[in-house]
Amino acid sequence: MTRRGQGRAPHESGVVSDPGLVIDLDDAGSTPILQQYRVVKAQHPDALVLARLGDFYEMFGADAQEAAPILGVALTGRGFGAAGRLPMCGVPHHAAPGYIRRLLEAGRRVALWDQVGEVVPGRLVDRAVTRVLSPGTISEADYLDETRVARCAALYCSGGRTGVAAFDPASGELLLTEVAGGLDSVPLREECERLDVAELLIAQDADAAPPTLLPTIPRTVLPPAFFDSSRARERILAVTATQTLDAFGLQEVDRAVCAAGAVLAYCERARLTLTAGFVHVRRRNDSAGMRLDAQTRRNLELVTALGGGVSLAALLDRTRTPMGARLLRARLLEPLTEPLLILARHDAVAELAVAPRLRDTLGEALAAVRDLERLVARCVQGSAGPRDLAAVRQACAALPAIQDILSRAQAGELTTAAARCVAPDDLAARLRELLVDDPPGSARDGGCIRAEADPQLDELVGAGAGARTWIAGLEDGERQRTGIPSLKVGYNRVFGYYIEVPNAHRRAVPDEYVRKQTLVGAERYITTALKERETVVLGARERALARELELLQTLTAGVADHAAVLLDASAAVAILDVHRSLACVAVEENWVRPLVDTSGVIDIDAGRHPLVERALGPGRFVANDCRLDAAERIVVLTGPNMAGKSTFLRQVALLALLAQVGSFVPAERARIGICDRIFTRIGAQDDLSAGLSTFMVEMAETAAILRQATSRSLVILDEIGRGTSTYDGMSIAQAVVEHLHDAPPLNCRTLFATHFHELTVLAERLPRVTNARVDVSEDGDAITFLHRIVPGGADRSYGIHVARLAGVPAGVLVRARQLLAELERERPVAGSGGDVPAQLSLGIAPEHPVVAELAQLDIEGLTPIAALNKLAELRERATP
Ligand code: ADP
Repeated sequence: MTRRGQGRAPHESGVVSDPGLVIDLDDAGSTPILQQYRVVKAQHPDALVLARLGDFYEMFGADAQEAAPILGVALTGRGFGAAGRLPMCGVPHHAAPGYIRRLLEAGRRVALWDQVGEVVPGRLVDRAVTRVLSPGTISEADYLDETRVARCAALYCSGGRTGVAAFDPASGELLLTEVAGGLDSVPLREECERLDVAELLIAQDADAAPPTLLPTIPRTVLPPAFFDSSRARERILAVTATQTLDAFGLQEVDRAVCAAGAVLAYCERARLTLTAGFVHVRRRNDSAGMRLDAQTRRNLELVTALGGGVSLAALLDRTRTPMGARLLRARLLEPLTEPLLILARHDAVAELAVAPRLRDTLGEALAAVRDLERLVARCVQGSAGPRDLAAVRQACAALPAIQDILSRAQAGELTTAAARCVAPDDLAARLRELLVDDPPGSARDGGCIRAEADPQLDELVGAGAGARTWIAGLEDGERQRTGIPSLKVGYNRVFGYYIEVPNAHRRAVPDEYVRKQTLVGAERYITTALKERETVVLGARERALARELELLQTLTAGVADHAAVLLDASAAVAILDVHRSLACVAVEENWVRPLVDTSGVIDIDAGRHPLVERALGPGRFVANDCRLDAAERIVVLTGPNMAGKSTFLRQVALLALLAQVGSFVPAERARIGICDRIFTRIGAQDDLSAGLSTFMVEMAETAAILRQATSRSLVILDEIGRGTSTYDGMSIAQAVVEHLHDAPPLNCRTLFATHFHELTVLAERLPRVTNARVDVSEDGDAITFLHRIVPGGADRSYGIHVARLAGVPAGVLVRARQLLAELERERPVAGSGGDVPAQLSLGIAPEHPVVAELAQLDIEGLTPIAALNKLAELRERATP
């Protein structure tokens, strides 16, 4: 069964190439390997078991059938006589990481059943499961995306709350938190999205997790015992080597503690090494950060761009380390709400922004730290190679350099982070002394340890030296002694060293030569003396290799021993990297430091939308001001389609968000009163079918905003009510603005864009509503969008102009203009300052009972579904 050295290439397709009855693993015969494979399979029933057989990883039975199509390799089989054929497939061991990554990306779990013993011909090699890989338990660089964290999160709900414990095996960070609600709650979904969960662990007895909870993330169901509270406490104490949980602030998060027990037990079962110093427990503090819902993250293109552009994360990312890139992404998804913390970040960015040389030298030093966090994780897990150790050595040299570079820094964020950039001296020295400058990728062939670094290694290398010199001189010596000029000394893996003599000289071969191998035209011989030297050379080489491995292991263990210090330094490097990145953006994109306070004001001079500005190219974006304060809480922004309403709304939200992330902002001046939440609701897009389902989503999201916003929130509502008929749409839009204005807990800063120019009359009735419009210049029939926001409301919708711009034929436009004129004659629309009562502008008679009922509606007290039902009912009654 073993295929050692056969060099079989995997085939391209996933079809069964061997016909015949396909049988199960249990029905196949009992070769020793298959017997053991069955046992391993029984221990890991939910994993694909990859058995290392010589140069291949093989799978059998159902595993092979499942994996072959994912891997794109041929499904072959092994015959068991009349019983049938057992399906098999395999991949070469040297290319295994790529294949394993595919299985993990397909959400599968993989158990590696490796050869752990010495390979002795004719004897079964010892094998053991060395690693169980699943999407959330990976620390190996081969399988991870550099810029993203992949956490394994256990969820434990009881009594209407859910505890979350999210472990990142590539950094050792264990985050604990609790959220209100069960597995179907919105806060839980949002929390999981923020945490970049790659795998969910759920208790068997929990209510089945609903599909709404991260449907694309693989889930693993664990027996309830995994979540046992007292075992969980013991586990946390053990992996952190502490006596009490008090220090972690876990008193009120019992459910999260249970979840932590599960995730730790699960990771141990996956053969992850969890040691004190590596595992660091952190309680997530919900009050410090701003919660951003999924729509807002998407609408503001925080980490994923809509359409062809770049995301905000990509625009801001000038980081020099993967750790910095990961932190930047995390910070964008969780802006701060605490003014002092925000100010501290701005101080750091400001200091770096005015110091170009400091930014450059700091950038170089940071780059040299590379991904120290994941390098340390690999050392802890024992999977680090010689080049990983060299990278740690380089990082250790860079850390003190960073301290030096920042020795005169003023900002607290910079000085505290710099102080944490500590490399353990003894470890750094050991790495410098032992490791060669440029070690090979694998330790297999030696050459990793410097000469004269380890006396024992030198002795072993020296022991072989005499024999090697003797062999090196043999060819010349024997040529002279035998008079055979073409005699050669060579080496191969099967026969070791040999002397080769062409047949023409066979007669001159000395008696002591022993024939070993016949080739076409030559014979190969050995001699006792040569074999003696060979034993010395090979023995010394093997022992030298073993000594090298031992030394490398001590270095790896040394890094693991210092995990806590090195991980802390990595975290500090990530912070510095993010500040530097934001400073680079500020300078290169001409951004300014915002003033952040608790005033509840938003006051921006000449703000720009960073992503639209980037897409348009230099000099083409029209900057705009924005003012929201106690007297002017709500801006109703009108203007034709494509004028720039949406861009303006998102721009204001982005500036607030950037300021609270700790960044400078694209404006000439900005004062941002801290927002506790930023909500964005962008109405159904023109290109989406405006059916009921779209509308329902729109209303459900609007309802959620009305429920969750507070007076300190910023609400962006773009084209609310677009997904339904005009009157419905306008009624809802108006009711929403009135509610935001009047409901006591709200009165929040709101930007409301609409193409219903009729809504501008609201400003006359509601004192804290003002109108703004996007300016257009008209020249006869032609209009040009100026993209400038000016006070006052638009008096018409310019729909026909937009139709013309879009290339609608002239005849149609003429007819449309006629119709519009007729309609306007029949039903005059209230302009701002007009004398028609406000409600009339909606085209609904004021005495209509639906209007009265709408005005009375307690939107807050309605669930989204009830709101929809009500709406459907109102529409029914409003339709003549
Ligand atoms: P609306 O929401 O009014 O339909 P958008 O905000 O989507 O309009 O803007 C339409 C397009 O106009 C944008 O894609 C952009 O190219 C351009 N635009 C918007 N605002 C500006 C601006 N301030 N300066 C320059 N171009 C702009």
